[in-house]
Amino acid sequence: MHEHRFFVPREWIQGSHVRLEAPLAHQVARVLRLRPGRQIVLLDGSGWAYRVELGRVSATLVEGKVLARFAPKTEPSVRFVLCQALLKGKHFDWVLQKGTELGVKVFLPLFTRHGVVRGDEDFAKTKLPRWQRIVQEAAEQAGRAVLPEVRLPVEFPLACQVLPEGALALMPCLQEGTVPLREALAVEGKRPREVWIFVGPEGGFAKEEVALARQRGVHLVSLGPRVLRSETAALAVMAALLYALGEME
Ligand code: SAH
Repeated sequence: MHEHRFFVPREWIQGSHVRLEAPLAHQVARVLRLRPGRQIVLLDGSGWAYRVELGRVSATLVEGKVLARFAPKTEPSVRFVLCQALLKGKHFDWVLQKGTELGVKVFLPLFTRHGVVRGDEDFAKTKLPRWQRIVQEAAEQAGRAVLPEVRLPVEFPLACQVLPEGALALMPCLQEGTVPLREALAVEGKRPREVWIFVGPEGGFAKEEVALARQRGVHLVSLGPRVLRSETAALAVMAALLYALGEME
């Protein structure tokens, strides 16, 4: 039986009593047609999960009681920050969904020189709510108990500036001077606590951007001799990192 998991506002869980309001109540009652007695899992976004038995079920209000509280161990032990250049069409949505499944903690969308998506719209209004919905659904699906964060897009140089001291930073790129991913992981010697990944747009990073990244201590890495689409590169590097860091066991 498929286990239904939902992120909910913390106020909906009061001690052992749970109240689900619209639109989730509608989804539970009408779309999924879950009946009283059925168990679901609620997540408060902080890492805690609650096994809940449904009581009264209606399209406007669902009540239930908490049977158990637990902390799913589904977060990678490394904090992954994916700085992904904005992409046309559905490709960026796809990176958000798959990146969430693979354990990205923070998505930082980038405006870049060669990127085709420009900052002439109000992203907070037009894009962010949808991006957050995509990430929430993917996190529920993946069984994560911590909701990944989607930030508002920033210009590439700003992302380089806020790169914290001590984070391992990687930029997959096709220019000269890259090292194999394996080597970049080895240079620091010890296991990183935080990894920042910079992935370029459809047109790749500009020379100046690569130079700036290098200046800031970002390692330029190769993902092999084939030219990958941006969204493929993002996921390939995530998968390789999970494997290399022992997070696929
Ligand atoms: N037309 C562009 C291709 C960009 S591919 C060019 O020739 O530069 C989009 C992004 O995916 C790149 O900016 C880089 O971050 C990443 N990427 C794709 N293939 C890669 C590879 N084999 N190694 C490292 N990074 C790669």
